[in-house]
Amino acid sequence: MAEYVVSVGMEVHAELMTESKMFCRCPVAFGGMPNTRTCPVCLGLPGTLPVPNERAVDMVMKAALALNCTVPTDSVFHRKNYFYPDQPKGYQVSQYGDTNPIGYNGYLEIPTSDGGTKQIKIRRVHLEEDTGKLMHFPGGGSGVDYNRAGVPLMEIVTEFPPDIESSEEAREYMVQLRAILIYIGVCDGKLEQGSMRCEPNISVRPKGSETYGTKSELKNLNSFKSVQLGIEFEAKRQSELLEKGETLLQETRGWNEQTQSSYPMRVKESEADYRYFPCPDLIPMHFTDEKIQSVRESLPELPLAKQRRYEKEFGLSSYDAGVLVSEQYWAHFFEETIKQGGEAKAICNWMNGEFARLLNETGQVGTVDGLAVEDKPGSKIRPAHLIELVSLIESGKISGKIAKTVFEECFGTGKMPSAVVEEQGLTVINDSSAIDAVVQQVLAANPTQVAQFKEGKESLIGFFVGQVMRQTEGRADPKTVQDALRAALRE
Ligand SMILES: [Zn+2]
Repeated sequence: MAEYVVSVGMEVHAELMTESKMFCRCPVAFGGMPNTRTCPVCLGLPGTLPVPNERAVDMVMKAALALNCTVPTDSVFHRKNYFYPDQPKGYQVSQYGDTNPIGYNGYLEIPTSDGGTKQIKIRRVHLEEDTGKLMHFPGGGSGVDYNRAGVPLMEIVTEFPPDIESSEEAREYMVQLRAILIYIGVCDGKLEQGSMRCEPNISVRPKGSETYGTKSELKNLNSFKSVQLGIEFEAKRQSELLEKGETLLQETRGWNEQTQSSYPMRVKESEADYRYFPCPDLIPMHFTDEKIQSVRESLPELPLAKQRRYEKEFGLSSYDAGVLVSEQYWAHFFEETIKQGGEAKAICNWMNGEFARLLNETGQVGTVDGLAVEDKPGSKIRPAHLIELVSLIESGKISGKIAKTVFEECFGTGKMPSAVVEEQGLTVINDSSAIDAVVQQVLAANPTQVAQFKEGKESLIGFFVGQVMRQTEGRADPKTVQDALRAALRE
């Protein structure tokens, strides 16, 4: 089979975290009874007039600047005309044109495996309104829910020709984009709930060829993993068809999570004519340089820059630093702990290890807060807990194994590690006479193994250490135990 290369263009829709919809005051929320968050404006009833949500415009500008885009001084809304029941007006308010969107000509950087970065060019970042949702009932018939209709939606489209050349890069693009949108506070990035949706278009061509192949667009990808698997599947499917000498159709395909395969949804015979024209109900937007500058200055340190800084400043691995910055509250907690005197590497290990595990198990991811916000729900762990725990281990007061038990107790109760150690008598036993006594008991109880050891089966030392640790409930200092055992077995 000839070698094929894949090219991926990304189209991402992100619902903005505004309180109300784009052109009316209906609240924005997830779920709920169908058509309970609607009004004459978002239902498109005659005689109503839209009023733009200024916060949504600001959010898109923020995202555009975070993605290194140019923001025009003038920008207008267009009507995208099409007839389909998912939008009640006969058109969707959107933004058309190359230099009209709130942001254009930008780029996003993704990390590469050699510690560098690759730029993925962004063609445009624009603001539009979301559509309603069609529902097909199991017993037959269809309905439409307009709760989502009119929710402010940002569309981010990469440039053509595409810079993304593998499924891993596509996944990384989504990881970075999601982190940026969360950091700047414009989208909650919930792929599984659809508040961030990605529709990659995928094509393959023989290696060395300059001509791009026929592309398919993939829908229903609701996790980073499915983005990657979906693109891999499509690249393989297309290459195999080309290899058989078949012609590819330009089509929209859906991703089936269960079967891990794509299926045809519709064939695109020609580009639909949406007859875009400026919406006469909405006045053109004008952005002053001062306005753009003030939004630019409000941007926080972005995730990839933060990750690289952690690697340099704290000597963390790229992977560890990446996990720390993947969620803003997590990075914030880390920085707060370091500020209060924590040792970076040890704190990072506890956070990305036990702490993350317990948060996951108790379904509290996203609720922890590095600030002392005691009345917030979620984990009771504060920076001081981790700092004290690490110092108890480093000073040899508790073993690493016991520390896990201590941490679990702190996690649930909010007690300080030293208090838990005190209450439960968990300090390390390194008193050799106490350990010697246990060693003698263990040897007396296992005469067969003692004989085997003396005949040369030295690997049994691990078995004896295990027995002693069990008797002392893990509190004995392993080094002292080894020494005591070897001394006793030599007798
Ligand atoms: Zn409404």
